Amino acid sequence: MSLGPFALTERRNYDQGIMTRSRVALVTGASRGIGAATALKLAEQGVHVAVNYRRNGEAARSVVQRIEELGMSAVALQADLGDRADAERLVGATVDRLGGLHALINNAGHVERATLAELSWESWRRMMAVTLDGAFAVSQTAAPHMTSAGWGRIVNVSSLRAMAGYGRGVHYATAKAGLLGFTKALATELAPHGVTVNAVSPGYTETDITRNAIEAKGDEIRAKIPVGNVAQPEEIAALIAFLCRDEAGSINGETINVNGGLYMD
Ligand code: NAP
Repeated sequence: MSLGPFALTERRNYDQGIMTRSRVALVTGASRGIGAATALKLAEQGVHVAVNYRRNGEAARSVVQRIEELGMSAVALQADLGDRADAERLVGATVDRLGGLHALINNAGHVERATLAELSWESWRRMMAVTLDGAFAVSQTAAPHMTSAGWGRIVNVSSLRAMAGYGRGVHYATAKAGLLGFTKALATELAPHGVTVNAVSPGYTETDITRNAIEAKGDEIRAKIPVGNVAQPEEIAALIAFLCRDEAGSINGETINVNGGLYMD
């Protein structure tokens, strides 16, 4: 991995007695599911990782332990992405504890099934706060660390629902679609500074979010998907990790679907 753009980080690490020659990634919502798989995949690629969680500290610390077993540094950082101060503090803590920030994965999210009539104002606001305000606050705080180094990667985790809609989740589909506009606008703005921004849109992926639905009507779900199966979190993680590599430097402003052909753009 080229060290050129990271001379300042390397110098700072050297001054602090931390001998690291790797990049640092922050993965939001990395205690479980796609985020945890992404944190591990990045570590396999030689990246140090900040593992954000909201409630599940024990799960986050077990991800940290697995990353350390791979020989990389990691830290579990609690922060609620729906809170701007938390989001800003999260970036600061990543830089302080791991010596820099080169890749940001905006992955934290939640699902709540409700029709338009059932949706409360608070649920609507909360979805926008965690998905959009959170991605904005973390990206705005993180971007200067990347632009000053002349290299960076931001990957936003959207959803099939952004394009295909959602019978009982207008707030989820709206927020995830908003992330796609956010991706393209930021990709245009940051690319001249060496920072690419892309979105990954998973379809059905086997995590806590979908576990009940897959258990209850897995056959029905799989029958709708051309490849005949739901994705594993590691498949989404592999794509996100690839987008964080040097080789992905010409992919910018894209939304990449991983849904087995259930929806084709
Ligand atoms: P998951 O297994 O439920 O994990 C969600 C993660 O996000 C957990 O680490 C959770 O932390 C964290 N989180 C939730 N709210 C947070 C908040 N306010 N602040 C900080 N962290 C928060 O979900 P997943 O399936 O891996 O989903 C990851 C992303 O993929 C989400 O954005 C989701 O919308 C998207 N996605 C998933 C699917 C799918 O089929 N699974 C499909 C399309 C898109 P705690 O453990 O502390 O609660």
